[in-house]
Amino acid sequence: MSLLEVRDLDAGYETGQVLFGVDLDVERDEVVSLLGRNGAGKTTTMRSIVGADEPTVRGGSITFDGHDLLATEAHDIPRLGLSLVPEARRCFGDLTVTENIRLAAHHATNPRDVAAMFERFPELDDMRDRPARHMSGGEQQMLAIARSLVTNPQMILLDEPCEGLAPYIVRRIEDIIHEISENEGVTILLVEQNVAVALATADRHYLIDEGHIVDEVTTERLREDETLRQRYLGV
Ligand code: ATP
Repeated sequence: MSLLEVRDLDAGYETGQVLFGVDLDVERDEVVSLLGRNGAGKTTTMRSIVGADEPTVRGGSITFDGHDLLATEAHDIPRLGLSLVPEARRCFGDLTVTENIRLAAHHATNPRDVAAMFERFPELDDMRDRPARHMSGGEQQMLAIARSLVTNPQMILLDEPCEGLAPYIVRRIEDIIHEISENEGVTILLVEQNVAVALATADRHYLIDEGHIVDEVTTERLREDETLRQRYLGV
């Protein structure tokens, strides 16, 4: 059984259905990407998985590590070891770096050591007492990942971690994704519009278009098939 199994998922908002029969699997220790254009349904998929208030799931099933997520309260999902790093990264702006990480650890059942996060992210060590709102976008993204990692997750869902970041920080985030996957055994589902990031980090890719999974491809195929990229990603 896969660590994460999404089957025949239908979900949407008051304004209408957005996801139509979405199927996806992520095996333990994999890095998988979900790629698609603006508005294709990537964030809606992530939010359905973690039981966010919106969207409303209308059909299908979502199983994580054998647990039925649709029957699990949203606030209990992180305790199963599944953590979302949302788009636009939502750190607490008035809290310092240390406070942000401590707060995340405080809410976890079996947190990692806060001090270890500073060894893990030396950039954050240099700004422990800085309020998050005074950090750059890349630094906030690192903090958001540290907040997730300190909860000791089995799997992290990363929603567009590189959006709006300068190229050298994008490289750093790619390295972090590699490290937490390879050295720390965390399984990753990554949402991206930036195909280069997905190619650099993920083993396998699902392509989503207008709420339908239209293909599932290896990194090699995605790299070579320009027609495919053009059709579904516009690049
Ligand atoms: P993006 O990269 O722009 O975030 P996406 O693939 O993540 O794209 P979603 O955010 O999942 O796309 O949006 C899919 C569709 O659902 C879009 O048509 C969007 O307008 C709609 N949508 C998203 N959030 C809401 C909401 N809270 N209420 C109503 N419609 C929404």
